[in-house]
Amino acid sequence: MEKVFVAKCDEYKKEKIKRVIKKGFKVLNFNPKKFKKVLLKPNVLGAYPPERAVTTHPVFVEAVCEIFNGKIYVGDCSGVDHLTKRSLEKSGIKKAAKKCNAKLVNLNKMEHIKIVKKDFKYAKDLLFPKILFDVDLIVNLPKLKTHMLTLLSGGVKNLFGCVPGGQKRKLHAVANTERRFGEMLFEIYNIIKPKITIMDAIIGMEGNGPSAGTPKKTGYILISKNPAALDYVAAKIMGIDPYKIWSTKLIMEGKKVKIIGQFENKKYKMPFIRPRYIPRFISNLIFGRKPAINKRKCKKCMICVKNCPVGAIDENLNFKSNCIECFCCLELCPENAIYIKESKLKKLRFLFRKFV
Ligand code: SF4
Ligand code: SF4
Repeated sequence: MEKVFVAKCDEYKKEKIKRVIKKGFKVLNFNPKKFKKVLLKPNVLGAYPPERAVTTHPVFVEAVCEIFNGKIYVGDCSGVDHLTKRSLEKSGIKKAAKKCNAKLVNLNKMEHIKIVKKDFKYAKDLLFPKILFDVDLIVNLPKLKTHMLTLLSGGVKNLFGCVPGGQKRKLHAVANTERRFGEMLFEIYNIIKPKITIMDAIIGMEGNGPSAGTPKKTGYILISKNPAALDYVAAKIMGIDPYKIWSTKLIMEGKKVKIIGQFENKKYKMPFIRPRYIPRFISNLIFGRKPAINKRKCKKCMICVKNCPVGAIDENLNFKSNCIECFCCLELCPENAIYIKESKLKKLRFLFRKFV
């Protein structure tokens, strides 16, 4: 039985957050004091200020940091690798680490080791930051957000941030559907397996997450030893079927969830994703979505061009036909200049309503 603790917390007040987390640890029989070397892994997707609700809130990180003993490291590898340093600063995580005497680490710049998993489909031989395997404990600190490819960006998806270098792009290119991406996350989870996940669901993100959505007051903290079980409850808080998230479905197969605490359905506005069982050519006509650029907002930084996993944006910022609809460009655009253009036949969706 996979236990998930969920409790109310509606503001970023350090002492309040600490009280809730300590209570959760007690209930889950988790002793934070026995670890000597701890890595806190917040979601630092990009260079966004805390009020945008893209990244784990710095007060949340500070509160978690103060609960642990020993040597504490705080770090991530952002969506655009070379922007990790700026992202850690802008998100307030650098300051938070300093305040609690933790060592800030840029997972993109640290020593990496190759992990070979011959029987895996996607994560066969990836480089990972060595620190992941040197510490006694990884504390996974996701932010509750919607995601245009996976529906939910939670405990399992946060681990994808541990993949450094251009490898994220390559994985996006091969794991190019919602299902394949979920299978790839399943493999990454099996490599990293964090022992504890604490979710910042105080203010989440709805709509076109994980970066272009709208902040949503949610008022919860979730804790579990299993990030997929935590995602199961997070999905319920959002108001969606947890098994629509492929990584949750794969990791939770045959397992049961015990929820400790109460929560309400917060009815998140969800991004639209294609129905699963419609042939691709029909699906393209009716459900096809393509990225487009708002030229007025665009600052021509070329981040989208450099980070498209399949090179589908040319240097004049035109989209080519090989776009795989991963929406990395939308996720990484610092100006929010990319939006989704939907199929002209979208009115026919009512025919498929029960699948959507
Ligand atoms: S990432 Fe955004 S701002 Fe930069 S070039 Fe692309 S659309 Fe323009
Ligand atoms: S253009 Fe955007 S959505 Fe299309 S493949 Fe490239 S990054 Fe993904």
